[in-house]
Formats: sequence, structure tokens, C-alpha cells
Amino acid sequence: MPSWEQAVSGLLQTLRLDSIRSKMLVFALLATLIPSVTTGWISYLQNERSLTAKITGELQSVSAQTARELDLWVKERLYELRVFASSYEVSENLDRIPRADGERARQRLVGYLRSVRERFADYQELLVVTPEGAEVASTAPQPTVVRLPQDWTKTIRQENAVVGQALWDDSLKQGVIVFAVPIYQTGGRFLGALTAKLDFTALHRLLRRFAGGGEEAAQVYLVSADGRPIVGSRSDPTELMRHSLPAAVVRRLLEHEGATREYRGLAGQEVVGTIKGVPRLDWAVLAEVPAAVAYRQVTRLRNVTALVVAALLLAVGLFAYFLGLLITRPLDRLTGAAAKVAGGDLAVHLPVVGGGELGYVTEVFNDMVARLHESRRELERLSITDDLTGLYNRRYLMEALANEVRRSRRLDHPCALLIADVDHFKEYNDAYGHLAGDAALARLAAVLRETTRDVDCAARYGGEEFVVLMPETKAAGAMETAQRIRTLLAGDELLGGKLSVSIGVAQFPEDGDAPEALLARADAALYRAKREGRDRVLRAPPTP
Ligand code: GH3
Ligand code: MG
Ligand code: MG
Repeated sequence: MPSWEQAVSGLLQTLRLDSIRSKMLVFALLATLIPSVTTGWISYLQNERSLTAKITGELQSVSAQTARELDLWVKERLYELRVFASSYEVSENLDRIPRADGERARQRLVGYLRSVRERFADYQELLVVTPEGAEVASTAPQPTVVRLPQDWTKTIRQENAVVGQALWDDSLKQGVIVFAVPIYQTGGRFLGALTAKLDFTALHRLLRRFAGGGEEAAQVYLVSADGRPIVGSRSDPTELMRHSLPAAVVRRLLEHEGATREYRGLAGQEVVGTIKGVPRLDWAVLAEVPAAVAYRQVTRLRNVTALVVAALLLAVGLFAYFLGLLITRPLDRLTGAAAKVAGGDLAVHLPVVGGGELGYVTEVFNDMVARLHESRRELERLSITDDLTGLYNRRYLMEALANEVRRSRRLDHPCALLIADVDHFKEYNDAYGHLAGDAALARLAAVLRETTRDVDCAARYGGEEFVVLMPETKAAGAMETAQRIRTLLAGDELLGGKLSVSIGVAQFPEDGDAPEALLARADAALYRAKREGRDRVLRAPPTP
């Protein structure tokens, strides 16, 4: 056996996979598992990649559009405020407040602010502050605190506007953003700032427009650089302000603006999101979608693939198992039959199921066993047959006689036998030759066959001595048969009356109750027949 075959067989034996059935099963399972898992994995990766690209595209577009619109919204509000601030009513009255009729001027300023606010509902409160930060006029009955950045006077003069942080306003009991534009006198003197507090309603509406509806749509948030959400497309702004994203997450998102990242979102679940800074502002638009929703398609594909592979494995496994049975069952039958044959039982015939190598081997096996059976039968026949005459031989006769005596004794039935000896056979041989003597013996055997029944056992006892055992027969019947033999032989054309026989008859149990005794008694009768002149039949003399 080649060494590789030995090595592989050894390995399979260690793994307890040396039966054909388990080899087939393992092969079938591997042949299914390897290609299906490989193609499944490749298609999973491709799907994930294309889905990620799609999500990135969608989120990018949502965040970029929102950021653009937001920028526009801020610009529009600042533009409006500048228009209000440039009104003569504002600068003139503000300039007059510190003077003698200051209160009247303040009232007029308040009146103007109120008339503006009535027309622009987005503004929660409009107020005018001095360069020192003091509030001098407000649309609110009780003027509220306004928090502007530390260096707002510098910023407002440089950039012509201040956009404050989104804050929780205690007096208004909601989150607000503060915008401020400068107020200049006609001559260019800086008088203060027109400040507006805006709630998030308009922003919320804007974000909702881009986020779109539905459970699976993206959520859009406006967040400050430190991760505090200002307003979200779906969440209640007041509630939202209590949460915040880790600053590190926002920073990482901002570092790769426009790229999608996975992180733990505001609601605590894993989300996929992308960020886009709002131009010229410290804010950014965050568009995100729950990871479970984003990758639902891929997850479904993975689950379906796993299910299909499992079903395939089951089907192929069952198929391989039954195929294995188709192979191993005939082999098992062959093994069993071979064991029977080895044990000496040749009466074996296997069913030939189907064609192929196993069918062929089974046919060859059946043929082989049939030939063996026939050879053994022939051997058995030869072992009990006399070559020259074709009658039973002495060995078989002795066995048959022992059985018959046993049987007759048990049943208390009679049986008889006769011994025939050719008369003067030596002379016949001398006269016609040994071959003619053989032919004469064969002829005598034919006469014995003709005159005896099927149940009788005619055997060649010795050289030219024959015995016929007759079950269920008394001496008289045996004498009759003996006479017929003699008569037939005398009239035989082939021998031409040249041969005669002397016959001794004995009956069981009267003449002898054992095989040897019976034979001896018949022999004694034969001897007497010889002495009394040959060519005659005598029964054994009664036992004294
Ligand atoms: P008897 O009448 O007293 O029986 O005389 P016999 O010559 O037949 O004497 P016996 O039975 O003693 O002789 C047997 C002879 O039979 C001896 C032998 O030459 C011959 N013989 C025995 N077996 C065979 C055989 O197979 N073929 C041939 N041709 N002759 C045989
Ligand atoms: Mg003799
Ligand atoms: Mg003789």
C-alpha cells in the first residue's frame, strides 16, 4: 500500500471516519459547506459594501443640504435683524434714552420692537442692549436676561453680527439661540445691539423637512462643537437639550467630515452617522440612522444565507447518508454471506440490487458460491459412489445400514439385506480378461438398479460382492428381489448367461440386530449357497 494511502487511512481511523458511509457524509458536507459559505461570505461583503456606500451617500446628502439651508436661514434672520436695526426708530430712540425724555424714547423703541415681533413670529423676544450689555428695551413685559459672548462688542463690529450659543432660557422656559446685530447712529457711532432670542420651532421644522418621515428615515440633529445637541428632526427640543454626545465622538466625526461612522447615538443605540459643519458657524448637522435599520438588509441576507446553507447541509447530508446506505448495504450483505461461506454454508444467494460495480461483484459472488456448491455436491457424490459401477460404495453402505438399523429398531419395523457374490469370477476374468470382467461387474450393477426400489440402497461391498439394503422389507421380500436378480442376470443378453450369482439374505432383527451381525448372517447364507452349488439364493439359517 502506498505510504500516502496508509497515512490518510490512519488519520481517518483516528477521526473514526473509516466507514464508507462517514467518508461519504463528510465529503458531501464539505463539498456543500465550502462553496456555499464562500459565495455567501463574498456576497455578504459585497452587499455590505454597497449598502454602506448607499447609506453614506444618503446621509451625506441629507446633512449637506440641511447645513446649507441652515446657513441660509441664519443669514436670512441676520439680514432681517439688520433691516430692523437700521431703522431710524431704533437708532434715534436708543440715542435719546440717556437724555431727559429718555422714558418716552424707550417706550417708542419698545413699541417699534413689538410691532416687528408681531409680524415675525420666529422671534421669541427682541431687545436692545447698550454696548455695556445693559438691556434698555424689550418686547417682553418683564425683560429677560440676555447672555452674549464675552467679547461680543468686538465680534459685532468686526462681523456685523453675533450668533450666540444655544442656551436654556429660564425665563422663557425653553432653549433659545441669541442673534445680535449692531445699531449705528447715522454718523457711524456704535450705539448698541439689536438682540433676538429665537426658539427652535423654525429650526425643528427645517430639520424635519430634510430628515423625511417614517421609522427608518434618517434623524438629523444640529449639534454644537462640544457635542451638545441643539435641535433634532424628531426629538422634542427641550428633552434633547438634556443629553449630549461625547465630545470625542463629535470631534472624530468632524475630523472626517462627510464620512460615515458607527457610534452610540443620543438615544443610546448604535447608529451610523455623518456630520457636516454649518458654514461660518460653530455648529454642525449630524445625520444618522440606527445601525440595525441601516444594515437590516445585510443582516437579513446573512440570516437567509445561513438558513439556506443549513437546509442544504441537511438535504445533502440525508442524500449522502442514503447513498452511503445503497453502497454499504450490499457490502454488508456480501460480508455476511462471505462469513457464511467461510463457515461452510454454501446455500447462499444474494439479491442483485441495481447495476454498477457492486451489482457486478454480487453477481460474481453468487456465481462463485454456486460453483463451489456444485463442486462440493460432486465431491460428496464421488465420496459415496463406486467408480466402476456407479453404485454406492462400501463406506456409504455401512453408514446407511447403521442408520437403517437404528431407525427400524426405533420404529420396531423390519428391514432386510442381501449379499451377492459372482460365481467363479476368477475364471471369467481369466477367460475374457480383466476389462471384460469390469464390464460384467458394471452390467451386474445395472441389473441391481433395475431390480431394486428407489428406497433400497444397492452398493458394491467388495471386488465382485454386492449388498442391497431394503428398508421396510422382510426376508421373503428380499428373497424375491434376490431371485429376480438371479433370473435377470441369467437371461441377460450382454453376458449371454455366462455369469451367475450366489445370494445370501438376512432379516432384521430376526437374523441379527446389529449391522455387523446382520451382514455376517447374510454372508454365512451366501457361503452356504456357494457350498450347495452356487447360482442360488439362501436365507441365513435361523440363529441357534
Ligand atoms: P467363487 O465362485 O468361489 O466366488 O469363485 P471366484 O472365482 O469368484 O472366487 P472369489 O470370489 O474368491 O474371487 C474373486 C475374484 O474376482 C478375484 C478377482 O480376480 C476378481 N475380481 C475382484 N475384483 C475385481 C474387479 O474389480 N475386476 C475384475 N475384472 N475382477 C475382479
Ligand atoms: Mg468373492
Ligand atoms: Mg466370487
